[in-house]
Amino acid sequence: MREAPLVELVAHTPDPLRVIYLAGRVCYSDKELKEMLDEYTPAKGKIFLEKIFKSGHHSILEHVSFTFYISRISRVCSHQLVRHRIASYSQRSQRYVNEGNAEFVVPTPVEGKYLLQGPISQSLEEIYSWYYWGALQLYRKLVQDGVSKEDARYILPQGITTTLLMTINLRSLVNFMGLRLCNRAQQEIRDLANAMKDCIVNDFPEFAFTLKPRCEHLGYCPEENSCGKYPKKDE
Ligand SMILES: Cc1cc2nc3c(=O)[nH]c(=O)nc-3n(C[C@H](O)[C@H](O)[C@H](O)COP(=O)(O)OP(=O)(O)OC[C@H]3O[C@@H](n4cnc5c(N)ncnc54)[C@H](O)[C@@H]3O)c2cc1C
Repeated sequence: MREAPLVELVAHTPDPLRVIYLAGRVCYSDKELKEMLDEYTPAKGKIFLEKIFKSGHHSILEHVSFTFYISRISRVCSHQLVRHRIASYSQRSQRYVNEGNAEFVVPTPVEGKYLLQGPISQSLEEIYSWYYWGALQLYRKLVQDGVSKEDARYILPQGITTTLLMTINLRSLVNFMGLRLCNRAQQEIRDLANAMKDCIVNDFPEFAFTLKPRCEHLGYCPEENSCGKYPKKDE
């Protein structure tokens, strides 16, 4: 079975709504810092956030950032993740860490499907696991025989799991969620996006409305192949 990605929100900008309120007030008010901070209330912050989000003044969201510990995702998924350039990453190194006992992700479509039919049929998941077992066995043998980890890793399949720390500002997170909560995104990174969203919504429910697939912000589907949840722009 494919386990859900493990995600923890380990750090964030302190009092993020207050920081967003202050960033906005600096733009639109001639008041002194203390006065602007004194007038802040969470209710005012919430109204302000909704206003600037709707207006498109999203650079204000860059003043708030979140740091996630992410584990139990495949290297396939982490490769998709790090394509989001407006973020910072520190990922477990395959040059320095021995991957001999690595776990691996079995993608949902593989589970329970059959590769071969008839009396010798074996579940695809079983064959998939044998393949990983063999690759990891060979990796261990190479390392044991003195091949460096950085060279032995070439044998490792993309589905083995990795761990990373990711720091991302709210503006970039909105972009990330818009793309990766989409039903057209691959299941694993969609699960990751949902787990990250849950962390934020749990601690900061006021940001929930910003973290949605693009169609929910736009009111139409911008994808070429729509899932059907929203009509295409020209429909
Ligand atoms: C469903 C799906 C399918 C995909 N398929 C493929 C694929 O087949 N092949 C592939 O290579 N990638 C693919 N990608 C990855 C995609 O092209 C992006 O690299 C990835 O989603 C990161 O998005 P981003 O550039 O918006 O994010 P970020 O890199 O975080 O950038 C955020 C925003 O900053 C701006 N920005 C960042 N860098 C630049 C720059 N150099 N110049 C101008 N503006 C910039 C852009 O407005 C960008 O939207 C796919 C993504 C999705 C969601």
